[in-house]
Parts: sequence; structure tokens; C-alpha cells
Amino acid sequence: MTDIPNTLGVPATADQVVEVADIDQLRGVLRSAPDALVLGGGSNVVLGRHLQQTVVLMCNRGISVAADGEMVEVTAAAGEGWHRLVRHCLDCGYFGLENLALIPGSVGAAPLQNIGAYGVELAQRLVRLRALRVSDGSVRAFDASECGFGYRDSWFKSAGAGQYVILDVTLRLSTQPQLVLDYPDILTELSRMGVKRTRPQDVARAVIRVRRRKLPDPAKVGNVGSFFKNPVVSRDVAQHVQSLGEGLSAHAAEPAGMVKLSAAQLIDQAAGKLETHGGAAVWPRQPLVLINQGKATGSDFVALAEKIQAKVMARFGVPLVLEPRTYGL
Ligand code: FAD
Ligand code: NAP
Repeated sequence: MTDIPNTLGVPATADQVVEVADIDQLRGVLRSAPDALVLGGGSNVVLGRHLQQTVVLMCNRGISVAADGEMVEVTAAAGEGWHRLVRHCLDCGYFGLENLALIPGSVGAAPLQNIGAYGVELAQRLVRLRALRVSDGSVRAFDASECGFGYRDSWFKSAGAGQYVILDVTLRLSTQPQLVLDYPDILTELSRMGVKRTRPQDVARAVIRVRRRKLPDPAKVGNVGSFFKNPVVSRDVAQHVQSLGEGLSAHAAEPAGMVKLSAAQLIDQAAGKLETHGGAAVWPRQPLVLINQGKATGSDFVALAEKIQAKVMARFGVPLVLEPRTYGL
């Protein structure tokens, strides 16, 4: 039995945990353990106490670049750290990832939930990814249009879950800044920083400063970021929900005509910030985030999430969907 690293900091073991550094090693492990769970940094999973299976930790490395005029294609191995890739690209003058700074975890997991922050989603930058089919070890390239990307979702997280292991991703970035500055927190932070002519590096710094203030550092307080997705509902439902609460915000969402509600506000007004179960609690600075107070188990988090879901459903009639995947619970 070996411990499984996870940022919630819950006790979790597996029959075996194997670090995989290349494709041949991956094929070998999957031949003997086809039901293996593949993880990167364990920052978006809720784990039970013991998984009776092999856990593969993707550790392949490498970043390469192909330039095409002012556009560049950057290919990064699944086992690279996401934030390391963001920093590397900024240092090289390749822009487009700055809003996605400081998201924990690996490059290979980024397509799973189409990571997004401050108005930018991975899907907007991804050209293609390569993935290994678990059933026969073959390698296939998926263009972005074949990944089934949605709001914090993809085919790999939903219908195709467990069928492929992502090996690397290729992103299209630009040497010319294209700033996305729609979120008020970023504008306020840039102004606090005294920035006059904003560069992508300033946006990354602002994002990092805001995130450090608002979010618990997983190295100190166990968490997986947002525990629930923001609900995307029709305009009529949104209006009804808004009539039941106070000052609830709503943003236009895809597909056209749909509206995104703030799960944090719904939780705040339906459940409050004091909900706990066992060692799991709500992070007061951002009620979308559930934290480990010290001795929480994966089951504590699921039970707390269910309590919150029930309260939001009772007050607003809106189902909250879990963002992290659960295993062994
Ligand atoms: P893991 O937790 O290891 O795995 C997540 C899922 O991906 C699992 O189902 C796993 O089986 C699968 N998987 C992992 N690697 C592969 C692979 N190579 N091939 C196939 N499947 C794979 N997310 C956002 O979208 N936006 C944010 O702003 C954000 N902020 C966060 C802030 C904090 C403080 C924390 C703790 C989390 C945050 N997250 C955010 C969630 C999380 O960081 C991302 O979802 C991240 O991409 C998960 O990476 P990981 O390597 O840790 O994935
Ligand atoms: P925030 O900036 O306080 O915004 C609150 C909510 O309103 C967010 O959920 C955001 O939706 C939405 N929003 C705000 N301005 C918007 C705009 N101009 N257009 C569309 N939607 C808008 O949010 P926050 O909690 O501090 O998080 C900041 C960013 O980091 C968000 O993008 C959030 O998704 C991301 N984040 C994600 C995680 C995770 O684990 N998934 C954890 C922490 C932060 P969106 O969430 O859809 O952007």
C-alpha cells in the first residue's frame, strides 16, 4: 500500500503507485493494470481511504516550440507542471496563458476540465493533444474540436473518462499581447499595483496576487479549488433564482441564451460559511472552496458537499454539480 498525493490532504492509499516517465513505461503498466487511475498533481480529485488498483502518476517532461510568424505552437508533456509552463511561456515572450497563472496541477490534466480562470479557457489556446488509448496502447491525436470541450468539462472527463491517457498538449500562443481584462478583480489589482501600460506579465502578477489572497494554499490548507461548478441555466430559470436571493449575479454563458450563476453566492445565501462535516469546512473567503481543517477524509468532503447541495436545492431549486472527480467513495 502506498500513499496517493492529493491536495485535499486526505488519507488515501492504493495497491501500488507508479511514477511513469515515458510512453513505453506507460504501456507496460497499463498492460498489467488496465484499470489503473492516472493522476497528475491530485489537485482535482476526492479520494476514498484505499483504492484497490494501481495509480499512475504522469511524470513525463519536456517543452518544445515551433514558431510560425508571430504565432508559436508550444508542446508540453503531460507531466509538466501547469504553472511552470505558464511561467516558461511568459519568460519566452509567448502570450495567452497569463490569466491561467497559478492553477495547480499538471499539463496533462488541464484538458480534462478545460481549465479556466479570469475569462480564459484552455480550449481557446489548445490546438491538439496526443493521447494513448488504454485498451490497445495506440496513440491518437485529437484536434481541439474533437475534445468535447465545455464549461469546466471535456469528453475526457465525461463520456470518454478512463479511455485515454493524455501524453502531451500543443497550444497556440502569440508573441503579440492579447489581453483579457474582463474580470473586475484583475483590473482592481492592476490599478493597486500602479500599472499604467499593462503587459501580459503584469496580468499574471495580478492574477497571482489575487489568487494568493483569496484562495487557500494547498501546501498549508488542503483543498481542490472550487468544489462545485457554477450552474449554467436558461434566462428564465436565472430570473426566477435571482428573485429568490439578494444581489445574485448572472453572466452570459455558452450555448447562446444561457446564463451562468455564481455557485459561491448561492452557497453563501443558502448554506452560509459555517457548514462543516467531520474535518471538512467551507473556506470563508470563497464559499466555493471546501477545506481540510486537519483530519478530514474524502467521505467528510462528500458529506459536506451533499449538505450544501441539499440547501442550495431547497432554497433556489438549482442542482450544484461537483467539479472534482471522486474515486473510491
Ligand atoms: P489530478 O487531480 O491529478 O486529476 C484530475 C483528473 O484528471 C482525474 O480524473 C485524473 O484521472 C485525470 N487525469 C490527470 N492526468 C491525466 C492524463 N495525463 N490523462 C488523462 N487523464 C488525466 N481549475 C480550474 O479550471 N481553474 C482554476 O482556476 C483552478 N484553481 C484551482 C486552485 C486551487 C487552489 C486548487 C487546489 C485547484 C484549482 N483548480 C482549478 C483545479 C485543478 O487545479 C485543475 O483541475 C488541474 O488541471 C488538475 O490537475 P492535476 O494534475 O492535479 O489533476
Ligand atoms: P470572481 O472573479 O470573484 O468572479 C465570481 C464569479 O463570477 C466567477 O465564478 C466567474 O465565473 C464569474 N465572473 C466574474 N466576472 C465575469 C465576467 N466578466 N464574465 C463572466 N463571468 C464572470 O471569481 P473567483 O472565485 O475569485 O475566481 C476567479 C477566477 O478563477 C474564476 O474564473 C474562477 O473560475 C477561477 N478559479 C477556479 C477555481 C477552480 O477550482 N475551478 C478555483 C479558483 C478560481 P467563472 O468561474 O466561470 O470564471
